[in-house]
Amino acid sequence: MSEQPEILLIEDEAGLVMTIRDRLEEERYKVQVAKDGEKGYQEASKGSFDLIILDLMLPGKGGLDICRDLRQQGIETPILMLTAKGQVIDKVLGLKLGADDYMQKPFEMMELMARVEVQLRKKKRAKEKVEIGEFSFADVHLNFKKMVVSKAGEVLTLSAKEFQLLQFLVENEGDILTRDQLLNEVWGYDALPSTRTVDVHIAWLRQKLEEDSRYPKHILTVHGFGYKFVG
Ligand code: CA
Repeated sequence: MSEQPEILLIEDEAGLVMTIRDRLEEERYKVQVAKDGEKGYQEASKGSFDLIILDLMLPGKGGLDICRDLRQQGIETPILMLTAKGQVIDKVLGLKLGADDYMQKPFEMMELMARVEVQLRKKKRAKEKVEIGEFSFADVHLNFKKMVVSKAGEVLTLSAKEFQLLQFLVENEGDILTRDQLLNEVWGYDALPSTRTVDVHIAWLRQKLEEDSRYPKHILTVHGFGYKFVG
């Protein structure tokens, strides 16, 4: 992340654009605005932003399509989605399509700023983890470079897939990850295994890493969505 985080705001409501941009700039963020979906998608495709604030209902190309197409292109920029009141289905769909967080209009600016900060911090932490190459939670220690996992000082035997799954969970700490997303990331798009494969590997990881695999504290189930890692 550059010292001054760059945020792309894709929103067509002029009043809201002005309010959000002013507030973000007060926080010393660099802001670029796109007022329709096509233009927003083009900008976002560059992959050069630290965060994208994405409205759902847009002229040109809708927010959900933008989100899905960006993720399919491999653009991993965190996306904070804005939706109109009561669009619950869209929330589910948005998260499934790869949005990182979601806010329902109308919202308090303070709340938006807090969420923005969380996303930016998360991105920075994930990058640090990868750069340092090591990570610890509870009595578990991971060395990404050597692909070694130990618990209470004892080295565990993990399959390559288990390790990749664990690494992906850790790198996306705090994010809700759907089974499809995990399957695509760890097994690849053309993978034959079903989402059931993900559940089985999650169960194995829990058995190896959690104190009590029936009551996991780190590899959590998010009902209706998938899984989430908490360090
Ligand atoms: Ca709109």
